[in-house]
Amino acid sequence: MALLDREYRNYAVFWPSNRAPLTAQWDQVPTRRHWRPANLLPADGSATLGGGNGYLYHVPAMHGPNPPNDDRARQAYPAICPRCDEDRRGRRLDTPIRVMRTGFQKIAQVLSDALLRQIPQTAQHSNRKLVVFSDSRQDAAKLSAGMRFAHYRDALRQSLAQAIRTPGRGTLAFQAQLAGQPLDDERRRLAADFAATHPAEVAILSGAALPALANLPAPGFVNLTYAQAAQQILQRGENGPFELPRFTVDIAARLLVRGMNPGGFSGIAKQVLIWYLAPVPRHI
Ligand SMILES: [Zn+2]
Repeated sequence: MALLDREYRNYAVFWPSNRAPLTAQWDQVPTRRHWRPANLLPADGSATLGGGNGYLYHVPAMHGPNPPNDDRARQAYPAICPRCDEDRRGRRLDTPIRVMRTGFQKIAQVLSDALLRQIPQTAQHSNRKLVVFSDSRQDAAKLSAGMRFAHYRDALRQSLAQAIRTPGRGTLAFQAQLAGQPLDDERRRLAADFAATHPAEVAILSGAALPALANLPAPGFVNLTYAQAAQQILQRGENGPFELPRFTVDIAARLLVRGMNPGGFSGIAKQVLIWYLAPVPRHI
């Protein structure tokens, strides 16, 4: 565990804070420990004692002529949290500091995703299979359920990102096509996607382009003409907002095309799609 490879002589802990540590110094076998006011220069990562933008974990005895010959003095991490005062002296994991790192499962997820894409797939049949191994039975069990769930979640996010592109850039691409502008492949695809999924908006935009219809009332838009309604649709395509729950049907269709159950992979997850989209900010 990398966390435990670090020691005082090769690793420093800096607490960026303008409030003082609750416990500024404490005794811990075999020597006294401190939080000392210090200054960190983010540009080069250097920290100097003497006040500034935070505090440095400091073990004075380690800087003396005869540093203690005890492993416990060389510990890189403080045993007491400067912020909440959690005291882990004498515990098995004797520091409240945890490193921020990517979890094992997510790494397996990203690697599997990339590996599967590397394995060639023929039109006739797919040979793409992957065995994920772990020498811990508990890890293997967690990994198996976790990867399935995380894959579903990633696919959902990708579908949402694509779905948002359609009423956004899709609207503008469709309008450009209507105006006879040449489109590249991607915008042509967006325009076609928009035309297939937003028939009401397509009718308004097309109507607004016709002089005979432009100034007539637009169906579905109170007190607006075709031209005005078209303006509103384009405005929204440019700036949003987009209501996420509206994308539910679109996302479900995108997942189905890829052979995935939009409700998730298990019976109890039928509401997952709705659940995911409902509690997030409703406009983005
Ligand atoms: Zn704390």
